[in-house]
Amino acid sequence: MVLGVDVGGTKVAVAAVEGVNVRDSVEHPTDTSSTEALLDGIEGAVRELLGRAGEPAAIGVGVPSQIEYATGMVDTSVNIPLTGVPLREELGRRFGLPVFVDNDANCAALAEAHILGEDHLVMLTLGTGVGGGVVIDGKTFRGAHGLGAELGHVTLNPDGPPCPGTCPNRGCIEAYCSGQALERDATELARDKPDGRLASRIGEDGKVSGRELVLAAEQRDTDALMIFDNFARMLGMAMANYVNIFEPDRLAIGGGVSRASHLYLERAEQEAAARALPALWRRVTIALAEGGADAGAIGAAVLAAQEVEGDTATPHATPTRGPE
Ligand SMILES: [Zn+2]
Repeated sequence: MVLGVDVGGTKVAVAAVEGVNVRDSVEHPTDTSSTEALLDGIEGAVRELLGRAGEPAAIGVGVPSQIEYATGMVDTSVNIPLTGVPLREELGRRFGLPVFVDNDANCAALAEAHILGEDHLVMLTLGTGVGGGVVIDGKTFRGAHGLGAELGHVTLNPDGPPCPGTCPNRGCIEAYCSGQALERDATELARDKPDGRLASRIGEDGKVSGRELVLAAEQRDTDALMIFDNFARMLGMAMANYVNIFEPDRLAIGGGVSRASHLYLERAEQEAAARALPALWRRVTIALAEGGADAGAIGAAVLAAQEVEGDTATPHATPTRGPE
């Protein structure tokens, strides 16, 4: 048994995991008021589960941050106060157990691969921003220092809009295929057409929310549909790029924006099919991520299990079926 911890902007989820099966779990709100409060909150959630589930072989932790993997030092963390924190060392000291720390999108991709038994998988997480993870031979690909696989910051258009992330580039995938990009496009269009139907959906903050845009598209509003058509086209281009580079067995689409996939995924697949190399495209499965709400914690746990086993040849954990 290993513990997986998923530290999000709003909640800290901790799960006791065997293979890819959650035996027990707890959830606490994330305290982001200070680094110390955040670390104490993580410790409290973990200790609560330790009290019930017993001592794990190791603890894996996923955070929405850039991590230097070997040391577990947080390089950059925008949404929670961890920049410059030696997180692996700090949590290892608090628990007296082996701790491994990785980016949350890497953990989600690892969970998706192991839950489905896929050895070669690329996962794109379409949320406020665009993240993702790459699993090769059942293991997470991270680049030289753990900072790689930033799938959202690949250029689709050199003259595109500024990237909304902490990124100096323009025209990144994140500038087109994120929740922020959808809200930007919907708001711009609504302001350009004050008599249009999108304009009637401008909220008190002066913006059209992603939710309102989805509702408008579901009611066949042509402006909203045009925004999703452009979104789909850019996503399809990105998908073709990833298929050509990694040749995954599966390309999984996850994140909050994936809940609106009925508005863009089919069109995105058509675009990708027209662009990807045919020999690669016909071998890949495109699908929504199936990992569910526990995926982040499961992925962190799979990572911890892989590290303590030290068996880099094991392609993936064997799913076991136990009592729920
Ligand atoms: Zn970018």
